[in-house]
Amino acid sequence: MEDYLKAIYVLQAAADGNVKTSDIATQLDVKPPTVTSMLKKLAEKNLVNHEAYQGVEVTPTGESVALEVIRHHRLLEAYLTEELGYDWSEVHDEADRLEHHVSETFIDRLATRLDEPQVDPHGDPIPSTDLDPVEDPSGTALIDFSVDETVIIQRVRNQDPEILRYLEANGIKPGTRVTIKEITPIGMISVQPHSCETTVSLPTSVARSIWAQQTDEASTSVP
Ligand SMILES: [Zn+2]
Repeated sequence: MEDYLKAIYVLQAAADGNVKTSDIATQLDVKPPTVTSMLKKLAEKNLVNHEAYQGVEVTPTGESVALEVIRHHRLLEAYLTEELGYDWSEVHDEADRLEHHVSETFIDRLATRLDEPQVDPHGDPIPSTDLDPVEDPSGTALIDFSVDETVIIQRVRNQDPEILRYLEANGIKPGTRVTIKEITPIGMISVQPHSCETTVSLPTSVARSIWAQQTDEASTSVP
């Protein structure tokens, strides 16, 4: 149930509106009828509103449950990388397993230990302990900058371990700087990470999942 609420909450934020059953099925890798029967249960508990053909949305109670699970997930990810030496490509699956099995006391201690981090290793915002809806403004994807702009990576919205390992190996991670070198009409973008000598080519699908912010730094200072 927690996984469903989390999935609906995240999809709802991304879609800016009600969520389709088929999208939930894709997200959770289950069959649509499975989703339908779970939605019925969630609606009975007043955790979602679900009208036929109208899609589904979380109720305020459902939203609190979702935010709590997201808080667990992201704090666990931060803890696993910072204290236990996990790689950022490994923590998502591990946190998925642990997030339902830890107490509020454990999570609060963990937050204190980490000095109340605001974001997880992927740059995703961590909900506060009072579970206010997370400030989740839509960022600017790498693909939406222009050639020669220098940006600082803020968030990588991709959980594919292979992609995350590739990005890190090529100097692309929240906090790193890159300069946009070329955007081709056939769906590739090449960037120059400031920590690497060589440029890196990324498919636009991946570049779309990387959010960044422009820096004041003049791109001419880049080697
Ligand atoms: Zn994360």
